[in-house]
Amino acid sequence: MKYLSTRGNAPAKTFTEILLGGLAPDGGLYLPEQYPQVTRPELDAWRKLSYADLAFAVLSKFATDIPAADLKAIISKTYTAEVYNKGRADSDAEQITPLRTLEPGVHILELSNGPTLAFKDMAMQLLGNLFEYALSKQHDELNILGATSGDTGSAAEYAMRGKRGIRVFMLSPNGKMSVFQRAQMYSLQDPNIHNIAINGMFDDAQDMVKAVSNDHAYKAAHKIGTVNSINWGRVSAQIVYYFKGYFAATKSNDEQVAFSVPSGNFGNICAGHIARMMGLPIGQLILATNENDVLDEFFSTGAYRPRGTDHTYATSSPSMDISKASNFERFVFDLVGRDGTKVREFWGKVDAGGSFDIRHTPYWDALQKFHFASGKSSHYDRLKTIRGVYEEYGVMVDPHTADGIKVGMEQRRPNLPLICLETALPAKFEETIVEALGRKPERPAALDGIEDLPQRCEVMDADVAKLKAFITAKVAA
Ligand SMILES: *Cc1c(COP(=O)(O)O)cnc(C)c1O
Repeated sequence: MKYLSTRGNAPAKTFTEILLGGLAPDGGLYLPEQYPQVTRPELDAWRKLSYADLAFAVLSKFATDIPAADLKAIISKTYTAEVYNKGRADSDAEQITPLRTLEPGVHILELSNGPTLAFKDMAMQLLGNLFEYALSKQHDELNILGATSGDTGSAAEYAMRGKRGIRVFMLSPNGKMSVFQRAQMYSLQDPNIHNIAINGMFDDAQDMVKAVSNDHAYKAAHKIGTVNSINWGRVSAQIVYYFKGYFAATKSNDEQVAFSVPSGNFGNICAGHIARMMGLPIGQLILATNENDVLDEFFSTGAYRPRGTDHTYATSSPSMDISKASNFERFVFDLVGRDGTKVREFWGKVDAGGSFDIRHTPYWDALQKFHFASGKSSHYDRLKTIRGVYEEYGVMVDPHTADGIKVGMEQRRPNLPLICLETALPAKFEETIVEALGRKPERPAALDGIEDLPQRCEVMDADVAKLKAFITAKVAA
């Protein structure tokens, strides 16, 4: 299996070759040359598999340059009941991603029982083990540099902590994250994890990361890499739970289902699109946004109009506060019949701060064949959904999952079982839960008292020279 770029101008690469990199040299994103197809006998056999065995079945179709025994070992040590038992006390950790049925035909797929209580753990934990494997084979090391406003940074740190050959330098806005989020990240004492609290906003931290990454000589000399959501390893790991959710919600492979996905960077739902391209019987993919509705606008009007960060609203589902969806290019590549020239034309406009519109083109008809639906959810909707689900089913959901449930219930086709992807646990977003329900969310036992643990963090001004000096010193140590 080789991977090519969505912009059509980069040499084909293998899974391991793109694992540690980011964008393709032509500025595009990597995708498989062809999507592997899952046959009906395979689907029938996969229905009975454990999560780890299913993950191996799916991922061995993509990671063809990793010896099967090695891949199997990496996956077995990633998807264990010990790693994915941090969430709800009544969850079946053996299932890894258990399906919770709210009423006949309406389900929640629990993806947030990993170490940081968000679905990002599902992929990031695998990435940590894949990175460690690849680096040890190449006798190499990697310094991961990133900026976070919450979920991504903690998921990356919990995945990379203690890993040989890897250091993490994670920038966060000083004093801007919740007490819980700070405790989650800053309480890590592993010597390979470096939290840097920047005196500034998230955008300042992000700009510093960009400045270091644009210094190509520094980047190469210090082996700087990233783990952002365009990483193909992350997308491929997310394909697995669409299969898992489908099998759990159906009795036979003749049935179809709908998935509802709280979306920001289009990473999660992109994996659903790929699962369907492989032959999984998904009748409908429902994309939910919050007030930052750039993706809902595309699926309802055909216009993709990314907004600037100054036009991004800070909402109560903050992990979806995104106005430029970094993975969206992957879907558009398929939409335009894998025409890299067309993608280059569209993203030429996007990268220059503009937009594109497919409404009055043949691509609009093509889009209808992918069976997407979309909708948006507001702060008011979010509170109402959290309250409604709690009162009706006795289940507390987080604000992001609530956005997905709200839009999923509105957009689902009748008679399709609806699987709502749970992207985080309510314990991470205490304030909004209190606003909706007048009470605090349950805190998983594993995280009791996390705010009281000693914290370790470097406070720094938004000064790129200081950041470089800090990294240089740690790498030399
Ligand atoms: C990252 C995240 C999302 C958005 O997922 P994308 O892959 O960026 O679309 C939604 N909810 C939560 C809780 C997240 O952490």
